[in-house]
Amino acid sequence: MTESGEPAHNIAGGEGNDEEAAGVSPASSEPGTRAEAVVDRLGELYWQTSYGSQQAFESLVRTILSQNTSDQASQPAHDALMEQFGDEALAHSLAAADRDEIAVIIQPGGLHNQKSAVIKRVAAHVLEMYGSAEAFDRYVREEGAVEVRDTLLELKGVGPKTADCVLLFAGGRDGVFPVDTHVHRIYRRLGIAPPDADHETVRTDLESDLPPEKCGYGHTTSIQFGREYCTARDPVCLEDPEACPLSDLCDRVGINGESGTVVDPAETLD
Ligand code: SF4
Repeated sequence: MTESGEPAHNIAGGEGNDEEAAGVSPASSEPGTRAEAVVDRLGELYWQTSYGSQQAFESLVRTILSQNTSDQASQPAHDALMEQFGDEALAHSLAAADRDEIAVIIQPGGLHNQKSAVIKRVAAHVLEMYGSAEAFDRYVREEGAVEVRDTLLELKGVGPKTADCVLLFAGGRDGVFPVDTHVHRIYRRLGIAPPDADHETVRTDLESDLPPEKCGYGHTTSIQFGREYCTARDPVCLEDPEACPLSDLCDRVGINGESGTVVDPAETLD
């Protein structure tokens, strides 16, 4: 657990964050949108951390390791990789490493063959394009967010969530709300995003509905809320709507308490 209360095993947030409050007080002003009311409530429930202290290349590797797996599974893979290669020349070490060696080390995190290839490829790309991990880090912090995002998305194996996590956790950019499976599920159940919205639509909806400084902890607190309350198969409101701290803000799209069933919000359009 970090000082803010954020679990240290959060692969993208957690350990290594700036431990400062994000500089906003949820109670200080009326929320302008329902999304802001939700994030204010989650900030009161969990934390209001600001981000940006991670090194960009390591952040990229962390987020690749977290793709399609839980933080609990990817954290040991990350730790083992850093123990083997995590010196000041991380990008050089990974670019020069045997892919099979990387795959064996990160095996506990799952999809190790695929992820080892992506990690080795992005290490080589960063060195070829920027010369060093430090220069890549400066690029991520200093260039325009849209350009950085587009550049990261050109890397094979790097999708929108990974690019946005690097912008947030290494670039320290306000106004970036990465959308993972928890965020995608929760904001469609809430009725804030359309039931059939894809990840990119949820992201653009949230980024336009929220003050920029609330997007970072909006992302990390939503993930924590998705683990504790609004889980994929057994949201707490299924048995008791009042058990959820967001019950007064939620449309409960796809939740049927009478029949005790849960469907993806998109299925409610059928
Ligand atoms: S009321 Fe239910 S569906 Fe809505 S946020 Fe809470 S747990 Fe999720």
